[in-house]
Amino acid sequence: MRGQLYVVSGPSGVGKGTVVSEFLNQNKEVFLSVSATTRAKRPGEEEGVNYYYKSQEEFVKMIENNEFMEWAQFCNNYYGTPKATVENILKSGKDVILEIEVQGAMQIKKNFPESIFVFVLPPSLDELKKRLINRGTESEEVVNLRIETAKKEILYAKEYDYLLVNDTVSDTVSKLSGIIISERCKTERLIDELEVLK
Ligand code: 5GP
Repeated sequence: MRGQLYVVSGPSGVGKGTVVSEFLNQNKEVFLSVSATTRAKRPGEEEGVNYYYKSQEEFVKMIENNEFMEWAQFCNNYYGTPKATVENILKSGKDVILEIEVQGAMQIKKNFPESIFVFVLPPSLDELKKRLINRGTESEEVVNLRIETAKKEILYAKEYDYLLVNDTVSDTVSKLSGIIISERCKTERLIDELEVLK
């Protein structure tokens, strides 16, 4: 059986990266797609682990070669999901998570409508700003740009199948696990199993 594609979005700083990586620590059979980006590497990030870091020219060439499942411009940088790896993992029957922003998620919704869409919300906008400042990886100007972008992104939350308010990481991880377990139990996914029981 083909694996299930999950799309996880949420404003920058909401903690979705932490939630997804904690979830993956507990669920080794689920894969995270590693995106390509033109944004600069942050301290502690690694090539091929967090992102594939590309120049603008390299990224544009990948777009022209139709190498992306989706791509978008976000806060003056390009981000995209390489198609080949995700397809191979899904074909092998494993589930894949894409942690991407809303424009890319809407492209996936159009082109791969059978995917499951999860949006991580902050408890409040004040809390989001606090988390972005505490992360300390962005200048004040970038923090403000990301807050403005967050307000626009939250408008898309209603397009998603599930909303997770990220109060604490452990609760949000439990909720994400619950969603994935429920999706695996859907009748339409297990219909072939019924044949065996005839
Ligand atoms: P950051 O710069 O904080 O790592 O990521 C900025 C935003 O880009 C986040 O919302 C992240 O989920 C999103 N993002 C990361 N990879 C991709 C991708 O491949 N495609 C799209 N559309 N967004 C991505």
